Amino acid sequence: MEEEEALPNMWFLSSDDDNDEGDKEEDCQSRRQRRSKCWEGCGRPVATCICPLLPPCPIPTSTHVVVLHHPQELRTNKIATLPALCRCLERCSLLCGRRLHPGASPLLDSLSAFPSPSSPVLFLFPTIGPSESAIDLKRWVSHTPYASRAEPVLIVFDATWRYAREMVAASLPYLERFALQVQIGDGCDAGMEGASTFESDVVLRKEPWKGCLSTIEAVARALRVLEPEERGPEIEERLLAVLRAMVAFQAVHLTPVKPRTKLKKKGKVVRE
Ligand SMILES: [Zn+2]
Repeated sequence: MEEEEALPNMWFLSSDDDNDEGDKEEDCQSRRQRRSKCWEGCGRPVATCICPLLPPCPIPTSTHVVVLHHPQELRTNKIATLPALCRCLERCSLLCGRRLHPGASPLLDSLSAFPSPSSPVLFLFPTIGPSESAIDLKRWVSHTPYASRAEPVLIVFDATWRYAREMVAASLPYLERFALQVQIGDGCDAGMEGASTFESDVVLRKEPWKGCLSTIEAVARALRVLEPEERGPEIEERLLAVLRAMVAFQAVHLTPVKPRTKLKKKGKVVRE
């Protein structure tokens, strides 16, 4: 189980190295910028390296976190929290793709065929639409004996919200056989806007709805309840400390902008 998807030291190479040949937009300048990345550490440009903010050693957990990340996410999202998350956790496996299916992960295939009494498989994704259903993780933990959840596997999806929803939907035929959908609290409230960087110290970019969390925050909140009582809050806090530091770091490079306004109908101004 442990050797699967072991996090390569330079895991981010895969997302940057598979550039299409003949990519006409790539010029000398972008090649130089890519070369000046923190190759040995966080994978970010050297100028925004966050390695000093990360724990000196990966944090051991009883939970095995499996992240399915969209092929474009790490390439296009300059403030992705996944690199930091992977550096922080000892048991964090990465899968690159648009859906989970038989053959995508030996670990999941094995648990699907031979369920382990102590390793339930959970996938974390909030209820957004009325047709979706996810159980509050805290409630699930309180109703599940410790022996039946001592070494859980937690699957998370890392992508934009639109892509993540598509990835979950495409993975459901496989996941439904052996995994349980969970969420943090009541999940998302599509009727309310999410917080922005200027309103919260753990928000890197504005989320579409209230309750939407970044990948690292979602995993931090989940580990708080999944890990043994004496360890959970500490692990959560260590991950959130990294996120807060990233947000503070990012805020230095951000300039507050006024909400955009657009004219919707005659005389009616709508704030976006
Ligand atoms: Zn770095």
